[in-house]
Amino acid sequence: MTTTLCTVDLIEALTPTVNRVLLTPNTPVSFSSGQYLQLCLTDSDKRPFSIASIPGAKQLELHIGGSVNDQYASQALAHLLQQYQLQQPVLAEIGLGQAQFRADSERPVILVAGGTGFSYVYSIAQSIAAAKLDQPVFVYWGVREQSALYHASVMQQWAAQHSKYRFIPVVQQPDTNWQGRTGMVHQAVLEDFISLEAYDIYVAGPFAMAGVVRDAFIEQGAHREHMYADAFAYI
Ligand SMILES: Cc1cc2nc3c(=O)[nH]c(=O)nc-3n(C[C@H](O)[C@H](O)[C@H](O)COP(=O)(O)OP(=O)(O)OC[C@H]3O[C@@H](n4cnc5c(N)ncnc54)[C@H](O)[C@@H]3O)c2cc1C
Repeated sequence: MTTTLCTVDLIEALTPTVNRVLLTPNTPVSFSSGQYLQLCLTDSDKRPFSIASIPGAKQLELHIGGSVNDQYASQALAHLLQQYQLQQPVLAEIGLGQAQFRADSERPVILVAGGTGFSYVYSIAQSIAAAKLDQPVFVYWGVREQSALYHASVMQQWAAQHSKYRFIPVVQQPDTNWQGRTGMVHQAVLEDFISLEAYDIYVAGPFAMAGVVRDAFIEQGAHREHMYADAFAYI
């Protein structure tokens, strides 16, 4: 873990409630795909955000927000915006968490994101493609509304790179024009796999979702030691 000041390079809206933030650390940092950073608002107020970039990237990309304007994200964003406008850096602890991608495993992979949990999944999916890994990889991204699928086209391009990569967006409250999967994201996974025994499973999203996923997937054969989510430490 490295604690360093970071320059805020960019803050832009991905949806009305989710923002993309780019930071450049002032000192070299190392992290693994799937790890997070803590943005230090004060000495005692540190908020975790998954790093959407892949290791080696010059800038750290964050996706901050959620389906509703909650204070967790909006206060962090206000801090970033203030420092950006003042042209002052922010302090961050970079390279935290135990749910990083296990590149040495040859097991097929299921990545499950709820809302902005996509940031975590995006980093891992990019690392898998960069390493040209050959095992089957399924990315499930659950959102409340279709408009929250801010990187759907990027993920469609990702899936098009390899015959074994699949991207499955799942919308909870679909518009009439939505032709894809509907309902809760974990239900889509449970419908698609008779057994989850063979898979490495990576999960990020609201804590309530992580708990439901852990219990339901183990019930359907998943091994707890092959399931990875930093949210498990909080629930
Ligand atoms: C280590 C760590 C990293 C974090 N990283 C980020 C980050 O990068 N960005 C950020 O903004 N916040 C982050 N958070 C905070 C928190 O995880 C997010 O605020 C949260 O994931 C946002 O969810 P959402 O509102 O986008 O999802 P929602 O819109 O609430 O849910 C999206 C989908 O998740 C599923 N889901 C939701 N609730 C349930 C449920 N009860 N049961 C089953 N399925 C459900 C459904 O499919 C739903 O459509 C992080 C927290 C921790 C601890």
